[in-house]
Amino acid sequence: MTGRLLVSAPEVALPAHTHAVLSLSGGNELRFVDARRFGRLSVRAGHEKPYHGPGLEPLTVGEDEFVALFRGRKTPIKAALLNQSLLHGVGNIYADESLFRAGIRPRRQAGRLTRRELLRLREGLRTVLRHAIELGGSSVSDYVDADGVRGFFQLEHRVYLRTGEPCRVCGTPIRKVTVGGRSTHYCGVCQR
Ligand SMILES: [Zn+2]
Repeated sequence: MTGRLLVSAPEVALPAHTHAVLSLSGGNELRFVDARRFGRLSVRAGHEKPYHGPGLEPLTVGEDEFVALFRGRKTPIKAALLNQSLLHGVGNIYADESLFRAGIRPRRQAGRLTRRELLRLREGLRTVLRHAIELGGSSVSDYVDADGVRGFFQLEHRVYLRTGEPCRVCGTPIRKVTVGGRSTHYCGVCQR
């Protein structure tokens, strides 16, 4: 949620809260820094499906690239948004808020969304992420509660953690479901 991966020369001092250091073949180190310890690292055996590298940057991905990311995917769009090998840096809050802005239900199959819907989603995501950045949402000190959200962005939430509260657009109580193991909030009227 707030941890980060850093590539550093070995002589650079380890930052506080460094939990793992991997030596890269080029001589640098890949360091995992995670002050709040929400991160997980796992090691995969070589015969499993290879890792295809990091996802695209949500603030710079082009329209066609964005649409192509979801083509043929049978997973719910919410899960696809959180898939860091497609887009990186999209956390649970940003996924829920951008789906609300796009008017898309989180359990819709990603590969079945129309181009128009996906472009709305891209816009929603950009709006939400830019807003969070403007509000300084990426620093650890802004986070207070266990889900990493109280503070910077909470007053702006339209659905996230607003279960049972009225939708800010239509007044319908916000619903909470689980998608891909993550709590997911949406409006059953504004999102189709
Ligand atoms: Zn609504």
